[in-house]
Amino acid sequence: MDLIKIGKFIANERKNKNITQEQLAEKLYVTDRAVSKWERGLSLPDAGKMLDLCNILGININELLNGERINMKDYEKKTEELLLEMARQDELKNKRLMTNMLVLVITDFVFYVSLILLACITLEEGFVLGTIIVCATALFVAIAFYAFKLEVDAGYYECKNCHHRYIPESYFKALMAPHMHTTRYMKCPKCHKKSWSKKVMTKE
Ligand SMILES: [Zn+2]
Repeated sequence: MDLIKIGKFIANERKNKNITQEQLAEKLYVTDRAVSKWERGLSLPDAGKMLDLCNILGININELLNGERINMKDYEKKTEELLLEMARQDELKNKRLMTNMLVLVITDFVFYVSLILLACITLEEGFVLGTIIVCATALFVAIAFYAFKLEVDAGYYECKNCHHRYIPESYFKALMAPHMHTTRYMKCPKCHKKSWSKKVMTKE
């Protein structure tokens, strides 16, 4: 909070109302030194005095603490800016998730193929080789499933029929759905029709 700005604002609004520091102090049951301190930005009015001060000056608490008049248009604009910023953050997070997923899938695949090849070249056929192949395959599947979870968690799916954007009911349903890259053939929770639902990064 900018005490100097708030102080100047209080002084200005007081002068607009044609009241002296003494008169304002009297109305609020404080000393005129206290009012002078507020106006010079040395202190803030006590919380218990703020409402009365606002009533006398014809301002609201939000304006008092911002040290300026705020009109309704700005209120809307400020809310809109906040919502936009949140949507941007959401989109950024989702894009990052998708990138992580891709990196993970590629690393997983390369690691798996290399490991199997290396094992086949260096080891004789037998129990050890078999065990390595089984374990490596299990690890590959587990990581692939994790990557799939990342993909489903990132963003939303858009119904081709009604354009509703949704998150699948369960990982299992998404996993079982036929898919082409990140587009999945799933049932929309809104219109209940099955369609090729495209992956999108934002809710709107
Ligand atoms: Zn739909």
